[in-house]
Amino acid sequence: MYFCYLDESGVVEHGASTDHFVLLGFAVPAATWKQKDAQVNLLKAKYGLRDVEVHTAWMARDYPEQKVIPSFESLNWEERRKAVLGTRTLNLARATRKFNKELLKNYRKTEAYVHLTRSERAACLTELAKTVGGWTDVRIFCDAHSKQHLEDIDHFRIAFEQVVTRFNTYLTVATDHLGLLVQDNNQTVARRLTDVMRMYHRQGTLWSKIDKIVETPLFVDSELTSMVQLSDLCAYATRRYFEKGEKHFFSLIRNRFDRNKDKLVGLRHFTGKTKCQCDVCVDHGRA
Ligand SMILES: [Zn+2]
Repeated sequence: MYFCYLDESGVVEHGASTDHFVLLGFAVPAATWKQKDAQVNLLKAKYGLRDVEVHTAWMARDYPEQKVIPSFESLNWEERRKAVLGTRTLNLARATRKFNKELLKNYRKTEAYVHLTRSERAACLTELAKTVGGWTDVRIFCDAHSKQHLEDIDHFRIAFEQVVTRFNTYLTVATDHLGLLVQDNNQTVARRLTDVMRMYHRQGTLWSKIDKIVETPLFVDSELTSMVQLSDLCAYATRRYFEKGEKHFFSLIRNRFDRNKDKLVGLRHFTGKTKCQCDVCVDHGRA
């Protein structure tokens, strides 16, 4: 049995702050799940994040409060946390009502990581990405949509179909295992994913019969499941690679996208009718 953890990065809406939407499936064999989970937990504990959800986008960003605290790096974890939270309380008191709401959200999402400097947070994410890169029995399936080259289509549905088909093909061609989709608990997509998956079970996707994936997607709490967090890390790395040309995290996980001999099949850079010559499109044979 393989568990395929789905996660997305960016938004489907056009004209938003992201110009790519990425849906990614991170497939792990059940037989090695336990040792992988233990490895990730050990790594997280090293950075004081044992029971914390690693959310890459929130971890990777700059926390300006850390810069105004004198000798922040020389403080211990507890002192750093206290100093950041103190500075944040002051900032909230000073902020206007409109800005306050945004700050609060930002502070809430990053609170678990404030004891780490930006370079320590990057080091943690790098170690996690390297770990993923070293897991030779993991396969990644991903659809990355360049929204500026596409009409306002149903991005989620198209990407989901692509990922499900690729996962099913992998199970058929490379293994004699069945697969199960696992999705971060998200009320807005839960009902839809379930309905679409039922339809695939009845009539297949546009591309193939779905006979190796069982059940409708199961929903888990990403706070409690490290594998969803790794899926999030990979989705973030892929989106940033296409959007900003950031190679660092992407290069560490790149070898885990599914390949059919020499051809990259586990990652599609979807640009519609527009030809793209990026290295992923060349590797995929689309260029
Ligand atoms: Zn491309």
